[in-house]
Amino acid sequence: MHTAPVPVAPSTGKARPIGIDLVTIDGGFWGERQQLNVDAIIPHALKWETKVGWIDNFVHTLDGTIAEHRHGREFSDSDVYKLIEAMAWEVGRTGDTELDAEIERLGAMIEAVQREDGYLNTNFDNPGQEPRYTDFEWGHELYCYGHLIQAAVARIRTGHRESSIVRVALRAADHVVTEFADGANEKICGHPEIEVALAELSRETGDPRYLEQARLFIDRRGHEVLSDIEWGRSYYQDDQPYRDADALVGHAVRALYLTAAAVDVAVETDDAGLLEIARRQYDTALARRTYLTGGMGSHHQDEAFGDDFELPPDRSYCETCAGIGSIMVAWRLLLATGELGYGDVIERTLYNIVAASPAEDGKGFFYSNTLHRRTPATAADPDVQVPRANSSLRAPWFEVSCCPTNVARTLASLAGYLAVRTDDGVAIVQYGPSTMRLDGISLRVETGYPYDPEVRVSIDEAEVPFALDLRIPAWAEGATVDGSPAAPGTHRVDGVSAGDVVVLRLPLEPRITRPDSRIDAVRGTIAVERGPFVLCAESVDLPGDLSVNELVVDADAGVEALGAGAVVRGRRLSAADAGWPYGDEAGAATGESFDVPLIPYHSWANRGPATMRVWLPGS
Ligand SMILES: [Zn+2]
Repeated sequence: MHTAPVPVAPSTGKARPIGIDLVTIDGGFWGERQQLNVDAIIPHALKWETKVGWIDNFVHTLDGTIAEHRHGREFSDSDVYKLIEAMAWEVGRTGDTELDAEIERLGAMIEAVQREDGYLNTNFDNPGQEPRYTDFEWGHELYCYGHLIQAAVARIRTGHRESSIVRVALRAADHVVTEFADGANEKICGHPEIEVALAELSRETGDPRYLEQARLFIDRRGHEVLSDIEWGRSYYQDDQPYRDADALVGHAVRALYLTAAAVDVAVETDDAGLLEIARRQYDTALARRTYLTGGMGSHHQDEAFGDDFELPPDRSYCETCAGIGSIMVAWRLLLATGELGYGDVIERTLYNIVAASPAEDGKGFFYSNTLHRRTPATAADPDVQVPRANSSLRAPWFEVSCCPTNVARTLASLAGYLAVRTDDGVAIVQYGPSTMRLDGISLRVETGYPYDPEVRVSIDEAEVPFALDLRIPAWAEGATVDGSPAAPGTHRVDGVSAGDVVVLRLPLEPRITRPDSRIDAVRGTIAVERGPFVLCAESVDLPGDLSVNELVVDADAGVEALGAGAVVRGRRLSAADAGWPYGDEAGAATGESFDVPLIPYHSWANRGPATMRVWLPGS
């Protein structure tokens, strides 16, 4: 069976993934973050999951006292599994023996509480708790199995099929298949995740029952299986059959995990119709329901997609996990279709959501990723867990802490998203210093991108000449390959041989970006981007005590590079209250103009309380 260490392993597709054993990230922007992940983020997550009792929940399940001692929300088991998945990718990446031992310690503890029939949960069915499978709307039992299985898949793909967590996950998967077959308990989980996990597990085991169960869960959904709730059944994508939906609706992470599963099932069952439906839903979300940062979800109360073009920057939810869900879908579509353009949204989301979530020290995280902070953000207590989206600077841990471990597993497996095999050679999807040693081809990518425009691809070995495809981002008008113009899209260099060096130059001058006029909330504003970075103004960089809310910028005065960001000219808006904020004259700018430095959005909120905005009103 396929056991390459790749984040997603379709058995067929126009492009084929390359394992993290063959691709390495050699420093640079993402190399630094991979190091931060192992040095700080993973230990931080382990410390907090221990401190808040989520790991001990398994201990107390075993000793029979869990009803008195349980801590955390109903889905906290899933975060332990997601941390194990992150550790598994890290062990696969570096061979870290301490993390390997930690996985086995946690795995043995989890295995000890698994029931004979494969059932496993610390929140249900133990003495003093509600019976199993009595709350499909909010109970998250199947969701937890999903992350358990994903941890096991990561372990199998990185060469640890004998791991305890793999045994546990296989027993749980068999239990799910028996319990939830057609004619048995015909339910679905309120939070999709089991579907994508079962599809991936079937790829590793060759067991078609897992794939069929994933398909069943997808097609069972949307027939009002779950109860109606205050936000309607669309919240958990149970309002209409998946195959009838044109758009991503409801809770963004749920919708994206479900779509990732739909692509997996479509690919493995050769269901072109289902693939097209998943693609249509995602493409429409990109065209109408996605923020400039790649973030998705504009409703806080139900963490949901809004209507088309309903993208208010100061109410953007943009959960970190939704960004990761979007990357999961885009990567699957790239592999299925071979269209490198899906790498554009992956890049945008990596640099502006995944990189934005962790603090510079790896010990705090954004859960939601706003594009406009109106009041100065406040620092979170480094020793106190906060409600999920409530912190305004990054928080050390959340009562719902799905995001930090999602970031950790993504960073640990990131090398698996850099390049793909094509029928004729190799396509490079993401640029950073890296080495690729493939079957018959060996190459190095040397670059300071995204700070330096030059990307040098040196071919060290090539048994036969091959085609090198390069993704030219849609923003990269003026890009060149070996000095010749290269249009956005896929640029192919044919007949590449050992000893060749291909030089890509991507234009990294700052550029002004304007929103579609239908996005009412930001009409009349501009944003500045530079390469893959969305830039923002943060009040700590403004003169005096100026808030970003009192700022207008002069787009006609242009934009210049400054550090990794840019600088524009701005003026102060009259801040005097007129008693009524409407009339026949808009608020006027006053005084002399001044420089407004803009920084990469991902780095904001690392210098204390501040206001911040991405979209800047024009004068
Ligand atoms: Zn999350």
